[in-house]
Amino acid sequence: MRRKLAAGNWKMNGVSASLDELKSLAGTHADPSVDVLICPPATIVQSAAQTVDNTPISIGGQDCHAESSGAHTGDISADMLRDAGATAVILGHSERREDHEESSEMVRAKARSAQASGLTAVICLGESLAQREAANTLDIIAGQLAASLPDNSTAENLVIAYEPIWAIGTGKVPTLAQIGEVHDFIRTRLERRFGAGVGRGVRILYGGSVKPDNAADIFRVPNVDGALVGGASLKASDFSPIIKALEESA
Ligand code: PEP
Repeated sequence: MRRKLAAGNWKMNGVSASLDELKSLAGTHADPSVDVLICPPATIVQSAAQTVDNTPISIGGQDCHAESSGAHTGDISADMLRDAGATAVILGHSERREDHEESSEMVRAKARSAQASGLTAVICLGESLAQREAANTLDIIAGQLAASLPDNSTAENLVIAYEPIWAIGTGKVPTLAQIGEVHDFIRTRLERRFGAGVGRGVRILYGGSVKPDNAADIFRVPNVDGALVGGASLKASDFSPIIKALEESA
């Protein structure tokens, strides 16, 4: 059985005052039946981890360098995230693939480093609108899966987030059938590559305009093991009903 996961990506939002949202979330979800992960900006990873210490909420980063240390001004290593209290890191988000020209090969190198440091790599995949309209979605996903995932991944240190680029922050959401088609495809590819045990154990999240009012429907789709949520994870009052919908689907 895969334990469901509600993950929040705060992106470049959040300062010390935002820790109040975390406190509120931890207060409402003292004993959740699903995993809850919040990925705040790097500047508050440590204080966020301290804020949720002794609660079931985990903290993650939003990116890491492929090297564990060295002359890389402005970058952050997986070891540093781990040292700050993170247990996971989002890698290959489409905004990083676009803004920083990150290739799938770079994402794999980062994921290897994250896993070696004891972090779970939450690897994002997804097609653009043009790719979907050209009926290339599954080819794009297959290519990203093949090139972005480290070979020795396990069900514990790998999470996949399927995030159609055109659905991120736009309010547009694929149909449930479209989500199901891609999640089933990812599951099949994971089983083929890693074997049935690992392939069936890796969690596959859906991401892209998940909100309190559409979460329950999305969570009913087979092979959707939770969500990676951007905008609606910033406020506890928005993220909390999404967590509850996931608990009800479990
Ligand atoms: C994201 O950026 O990972 C995301 C899913 O954003 P939003 O929920 O705001 O679409």
